[in-house]
Amino acid sequence: MSTSKYKRVVLKLSGEALAGSQGYGIDPVVVDAIAREIKELRATGIEVAVVVGGGNIWRGLSGSAKGMDRATADYMGMLATVMNALAMQDALEHCDVDSRVQTAIEMRQVAEPYIRRKAIRHMEKGRVVVFAAGTGNPYFSTDTTAALRAAEIEADVILMAKKNVDGVYDSDPRQNPNAKKFDELAYIEVLQRGLGVMDSTATSLCMDNKIPIIVFNMDVPGNILKAALGHEIGTVVGRG
Ligand code: UDP
Repeated sequence: MSTSKYKRVVLKLSGEALAGSQGYGIDPVVVDAIAREIKELRATGIEVAVVVGGGNIWRGLSGSAKGMDRATADYMGMLATVMNALAMQDALEHCDVDSRVQTAIEMRQVAEPYIRRKAIRHMEKGRVVVFAAGTGNPYFSTDTTAALRAAEIEADVILMAKKNVDGVYDSDPRQNPNAKKFDELAYIEVLQRGLGVMDSTATSLCMDNKIPIIVFNMDVPGNILKAALGHEIGTVVGRG
């Protein structure tokens, strides 16, 4: 049993997190490093589910902006997340972490279908569950998937691992050197100020279900574990 603050966490990895320095595709070295961090997390006894994005391969909105049907483009985005999930599972297996991929769109030869009770059972047995294919519905994001799955599996927190940014700021720190970082934020502030933590659907779902979100920089090794252990890093949305 874990003595840490959180017993069960959802780790949200954007597609970009799995890409190398070029910012697209899958870099196995990067994925391996994340898998090793997940292994450390598991070693503390914390139960882990991972939601992977797909933006390193395909984003529905970019496709629809170029004239594609939005729903078709979104389904392509969901399929992209499956590739990322398989890469993540492969890396987890390489470092001896038991894992299962569950997809919101059935593809039985590739992965298990998403079954909530089964996902919970896997985690209780110490397996890492990787949720793929988003919610299975177009017009949603994998941030919303993280919020939805976290609610369904009764996770204590969403660990929102970000690249190149260490929390939530009042304006873009890359453009404004005076941008102020928040240590804590209420959900409603995120919504009212239109802060780019996650999309509004995901934020409202977390707000309604009182699921805290920790936004932190995953470029610093060890930060995933620190966030899961409740160390004060990044920005916590929803505390208080
Ligand atoms: N997507 C979707 N429904 C979902 C989750 C994802 O249609 O429930 C599609 C959407 O087109 C999105 C793409 O999958 O652009 C990749 O997901 P996302 O952009 O959230 O990935 P990330 O930004 O985390 O890499």
